[in-house]
Amino acid sequence: MKQIALYGKGGIGKSTTSANLSAALGEAGLDVLQIGCDPKHDSTRMLMHGAWIPTVLDLVRERGEGEITTDEVVFTGYAGVRCVEAGGPEPGIGCAGRGIIATFQLLERLGALKGDVIVYDVLGDVVCGGFAMPMREGYAQEVYLVTSGELMALYAANNIAKAIARLSQRSRSSCSLAGVICNAKNTEGEEELVREFARRINSEMVAYIPRSRTVQLAEIHRQTVMEYAPESEQAAVYRSLAAQVTANTRSSIPTPLEMDELEDLALQFTPV
Ligand code: SF4
Repeated sequence: MKQIALYGKGGIGKSTTSANLSAALGEAGLDVLQIGCDPKHDSTRMLMHGAWIPTVLDLVRERGEGEITTDEVVFTGYAGVRCVEAGGPEPGIGCAGRGIIATFQLLERLGALKGDVIVYDVLGDVVCGGFAMPMREGYAQEVYLVTSGELMALYAANNIAKAIARLSQRSRSSCSLAGVICNAKNTEGEEELVREFARRINSEMVAYIPRSRTVQLAEIHRQTVMEYAPESEQAAVYRSLAAQVTANTRSSIPTPLEMDELEDLALQFTPV
């Protein structure tokens, strides 16, 4: 069983990438479980045709863990992808990873933490305080950093690389960096910049996802791109990402950059 996690700055398009990746893996015949961990709890929404599924944290809050059954937290979406939303804290209240840990524990107890691939879609901002939990507890074994060429996105990706480097020294954690995914904003020099960033942190850019109107159109229709426009170029990009992820055996301990190195790198590839 592959346990992969997509990490990156809030708003970078992790959920869209995760949902389309899961859909492509599902279409390829794999048994996929996608777990969203984000206070917005919208990771799996397009796989579920726009439905907001109940979050584990809300159910645990309402009824306590003992009463919950698999059918109440695991929902089957497009291409047979099993969908779970961990949920998050009330606004202004920290979660410190409680949501995702409660989710892992519950799914383990229910025997639902299974499949060919588990895709974790994890909020990579440090705001919620528990974002390293899946890595620390050994659930996020192969981490993919999702970034664009924008400095703040690279900054977040670099911070996550720092967390992986730190955690990889612990015996309990088995996380490593599997690659960098460029979810492009279509800025000039972006592909080269992200490729070089990946190289400098001891990894590789495994996919370049161009910005495409098809993604917005699919979202308006409450579907993944894979379902809404299966013949589109964008669907082919996600299919190729799925093939890369399936075949990927690369795992490295990242070498994160210092802030001024990161800024110099961005400057080098950004025409002024
Ligand atoms: S720590 Fe994890 S479970 Fe808690 S709000 Fe943040 S992303 Fe969600």
